[in-house]
Amino acid sequence: MAETGPQSSRSTAQWQRADNAHYLHPFTDYKALRAEGARVQERAQGIYVWDTDGRRIIDGLAGLGCVALGYGRVELARVAAREMERLSFCQSFFRTSNRAAIELAERLVSLTPKHLTHVFFASSGSEANETCMKLARRHWDLMGKPEKRIFIARANAYHGSTIATGGLSGIPDIHACAGSLTLAQLEHIEAPYWYRHSNGEDAEAFGVTAAGWLEEKILAVGAEHVAAFFAEPIQGAGGAIIPPRSYWPEIQRICRKYDVLLAVDEVVSGFGRTGRWFASDYFGISDFDLMAVAKGITSAYFPLSAALASNRLADVLIDKGGEFYHGFTNSGHPVGCAVALENLRLLEEERVIEHVAELAPLFADHVLSLADHALVGDVRACGFFAGIQLVRDKAKREFFPEEALVGDHCSRAALERGLALRSIGDTMALMPPLIISAPELDEMFALTRAALDATAEAILVAQ
Ligand code: PMP
Repeated sequence: MAETGPQSSRSTAQWQRADNAHYLHPFTDYKALRAEGARVQERAQGIYVWDTDGRRIIDGLAGLGCVALGYGRVELARVAAREMERLSFCQSFFRTSNRAAIELAERLVSLTPKHLTHVFFASSGSEANETCMKLARRHWDLMGKPEKRIFIARANAYHGSTIATGGLSGIPDIHACAGSLTLAQLEHIEAPYWYRHSNGEDAEAFGVTAAGWLEEKILAVGAEHVAAFFAEPIQGAGGAIIPPRSYWPEIQRICRKYDVLLAVDEVVSGFGRTGRWFASDYFGISDFDLMAVAKGITSAYFPLSAALASNRLADVLIDKGGEFYHGFTNSGHPVGCAVALENLRLLEEERVIEHVAELAPLFADHVLSLADHALVGDVRACGFFAGIQLVRDKAKREFFPEEALVGDHCSRAALERGLALRSIGDTMALMPPLIISAPELDEMFALTRAALDATAEAILVAQ
């Protein structure tokens, strides 16, 4: 019988032709991809991925910041197979539930701050954030304050790419893609991006200034109109921005002062990235109402996400009654929930989060050591998360023009050397699987430096 699955042998060029013919990739310039062809990945183990040419690549991105436990964990595959045999699906709409979803809800509540008491399941980070938006909106309706409608988020934030969450995200190209479909009731403030936005203040003073922008915005639109403020504890896809310590206490104070719900997007930062279960633990964010999680919850062995709500919200939602008109076929999917439970068990049993905390100083040393590079203006690190800012002139803090695509050049140079390194504009981001070892970190950072050297050389030649 002819092989028809993805294992059937075709050359890389044949895979690329078929890919171009039929597959619309997310966030992709299709014409450019057609000219170049996709890199087709075939298998993966630990922190390494192999493509169809047999090249081994260190996945410095953990997929998309999601493969926490690394690739090829048979325990997760076995749990998925077992649950598929036992209860392959269960709808949760019509007074029906399943054991895995109930246990996962309990587990998430036990891992997060005490006041988070309820969990709504979905499949993607976008859906989790959109659920948070709808929970916030419903809350104010039930409280008799339907005029609290505006959501505030930050420039370059990434909260998803649906119409609602794409609008909530602070990325103009995403807004342009949705055009007039983008929701009107959205406002954005600048991110706490000290390197780019500070006026000579030290980082901590700048943190307070940046939080003050939220207060200014709330006052500008009127607190009585603001439903919630959404933010990632660490801004991931929007530039690897790690806020000063002074930022989050101020944000919490301001949200409370004006009765604005605080929604924390832990889609990337949750489940160990910072060396704590959640980045909100790391930054001391305890006074919030909603939390979106996804990605690392299953190490991406199954698409699963969740929105967690505080008792303050849940009490109103439940006590006031009335149907919450929201949900997805796959909400509380038993297989996804079983995989998540096993993933969380492994993270705990193998002390993976402690491992991140223990190696975080080594990771930070590696990142800091890149600061002497001619192309590097700023370096930022937190747990196993790093941003390396490329600049034209370090002394003057002069950035490259966007069209020079210097970051893109650097990520290509890294890939040629066997490292997947993300460029966010001219910020290079690293967020490897959490199980990466000290020698593997050495290897990853040696390749990062080699990519920077190659980029600097190419720029010199071009000048
Ligand atoms: N929030 C954050 C912080 C993210 O990084 C992402 C995805 N990168 C999302 C939300 C959206 O998640 P998804 O792509 O699963 O919809």
